[in-house]
Amino acid sequence: MRSPFASLHAVLAVVMLALASAGLMGQSAAPPDAAYKNAHLPVEARVADLLKRMTLEEKATMLAGSGWMESAPIERLGIPAIKMADGPMGVRSWAGSSAVTNSAANPVKVETTSFPSGVDMAATWDTDLVEREGRAIGEEVKALGRDMILGPTVNINRQPLWGRNFEGYGEDPYLAGRMGVAYIKGVQSEGVIPSLKHFAVNNEEFERHRIDVTIDERTLHEIYLPAFKAAVEEAGVWTVMSAYNKVNGVHCGENMVLLSDVLKKEFGFKGFVVSDWGSTYSTAPTVNAGMDLEMPGGPAMKAWLASPRTQAAGNGDGWLVAEKVLAEVKAGNVTEAAIDDNVSRILRVTFESGIFDHAHAGGGAVDTPEQRAVALQGATEGIVLLKNDGGLLPLDAAKIHSIAVIGPNAAVARTGGGGSSLVRPKQAIAPLEGIRVRAGKGVKVNYALGVGMEGEDAAEDTPEGRAASIKAAAEAAAQADVAILVVGRSNKLESEGFDVKTMDLPAGQDELIEAVEKANPRTVVVLNTGDPVTMTKWIDQTPALLDMWYGGQEGGEALAKILFGDANPSGKLPVTLPKRYEDNPAAANYPGKDLEVKYAEGIYVGYRYYDTKNVEPQFPFGYGLSYTTFEYRNLRIGHGMAADVTPAVPVTTVMLEVQNTGKRAGAEVVELYIHDGHAKIDRPAHELKRFQRVELQPGEGKTVAFVLNRADFSYWNPATKAWQVDPGKFEVQVGASSRDIRLRAPVELER
Ligand code: BGC
Repeated sequence: MRSPFASLHAVLAVVMLALASAGLMGQSAAPPDAAYKNAHLPVEARVADLLKRMTLEEKATMLAGSGWMESAPIERLGIPAIKMADGPMGVRSWAGSSAVTNSAANPVKVETTSFPSGVDMAATWDTDLVEREGRAIGEEVKALGRDMILGPTVNINRQPLWGRNFEGYGEDPYLAGRMGVAYIKGVQSEGVIPSLKHFAVNNEEFERHRIDVTIDERTLHEIYLPAFKAAVEEAGVWTVMSAYNKVNGVHCGENMVLLSDVLKKEFGFKGFVVSDWGSTYSTAPTVNAGMDLEMPGGPAMKAWLASPRTQAAGNGDGWLVAEKVLAEVKAGNVTEAAIDDNVSRILRVTFESGIFDHAHAGGGAVDTPEQRAVALQGATEGIVLLKNDGGLLPLDAAKIHSIAVIGPNAAVARTGGGGSSLVRPKQAIAPLEGIRVRAGKGVKVNYALGVGMEGEDAAEDTPEGRAASIKAAAEAAAQADVAILVVGRSNKLESEGFDVKTMDLPAGQDELIEAVEKANPRTVVVLNTGDPVTMTKWIDQTPALLDMWYGGQEGGEALAKILFGDANPSGKLPVTLPKRYEDNPAAANYPGKDLEVKYAEGIYVGYRYYDTKNVEPQFPFGYGLSYTTFEYRNLRIGHGMAADVTPAVPVTTVMLEVQNTGKRAGAEVVELYIHDGHAKIDRPAHELKRFQRVELQPGEGKTVAFVLNRADFSYWNPATKAWQVDPGKFEVQVGASSRDIRLRAPVELER
């Protein structure tokens, strides 16, 4: 017999459901069979079910963080906090406010793998490797009980002095996009949430909260947005971090055009936008523009905001705390629908990433041999051989008896630039150590500081101190078979939070190079820095020059591998290295006037400028030598239909042969540029549209094939606010750098 209470239960259930959906039930938990808890249901169904169970107050709570690196959990419904960790070059677990493991509550110091800087990884042009890096970082994030990594950085290296150039993937939007997509795919494949940053046009640290970037729409779409677009469309990135700066008068965090019109509508971004830390400046305009989550939050944010330094820098307030958001709803300035959209996005990512079902699930591992191998491969492939007169490199360990290793960056492992991206590894190999280990017992390796790094040692920081040190270094160089001179900057000079003062090397380093080269003409100069440096004083006398960027924890070993020829250099420049700072196209418009920086150079950024306006750089974009030689031949162009899309679209196929014509195995990065000679609008001399890294044994040849879409020939038409192709004659150029085009062929695009 049915219990007399059965019908009462049914009635009660209906009443409770009605109360719940009216948001009146306060604290009661959802039933175990609630749809949103069912991991087998589609994500959208789970989002819709969960959203309707939430009170307005709970929804408003989710718009602000609950701690320095945590979003707000809603325990009643089992919504976990998203636990974040700083990146992108590994997990920043060790210091500063973003530390995740050295707080009083968890005093265990955890060291993570320090991967090469972004600009270094871009110099590899190796998207498979960057994807593996993303996976390795994802594993470390999980191992530390976190869910999200704050990276990658895909902002364009617009000019040589940006303090964060080392984090970015260089000056070209296509290259930056490929790297960003690869990193995100790797991270997301581990069920870890990446955060693509900083949206958008964030290219200097000067007054980063107040600076207003004035930029035209075409430049925005052609240069500063494509990497973000690719990450949304091709990698389906789960979160995007807004930038501190203003764009065309409006802060990025409340910029309706950027967040709502471009990112969400034009690109179709379905995930959530997180603010940069303290990059919100209002309540209603921020929510309405499409900012979904303000970070940081809770007590950590309050303490941080109280600091005079934070206030002076121009950081915001806790603008999206629940009281403020609810007050704006009450005042009619924010609708519940807007909040529903914000919350749905956070929930969507929580479900999609698997974090809802297994929050901070752990797994993964930190500092494994595989992770170190990725870091080493990145550091090795990223080293660019810029000069090698007379074949000074590689060194022949059998013939060399003594090496003088010199310079402020020789004995210290300068793994990365400063700021939120700096990772503390368990071990980091300095160039001196890497060279000593590789050279072995039969080779005498002497070390001399040469000059101290600017700002690090008061005794060294005087003209007299430097002169004495330089003299000692020159003597050491004179007595050695070869001198290896490692120069550059440190993470105190090149960092987030401020820009680099000058393109020149820090105090005394130019003099050091000149003195060492005079003492020993067999000198190899190694640059260990993220930003370009002026080389005019010594470049003509320098027989061999390498750029190792900031190579992460394995940088010193990677350098030794290249110096001794265990690995063949294959890195290519992801940025133009100008001769003089004044040559760079943004020089006249940096850092701006009265807190406004006009991007007056427009689309003429990097090689688009140097190659179009015929300004000779020190080393061009895409350039890098090898210990072997490569021949490019037999360029063929074809037209066909793409097989993998419906309805099929016309494509242009490009094929060529590349052969290793030297005696060593090596990799060549083949670069494809398109030149448009007939457009109705001003266009750069050429633009990078494809590239491929090809590994070749001595004598081996391979066919390289590229498929181009119509979009690859297009430009952004500000009049129609759309990408446009003007049918007619183009030229496909294939080469080894933007200024070393080996093969060309005309291509005719039909209407
Ligand atoms: C940086 C971000 C970083 C965040 C959290 C900000 O200052 O611009 O890149 O992820 O802090 O540490």
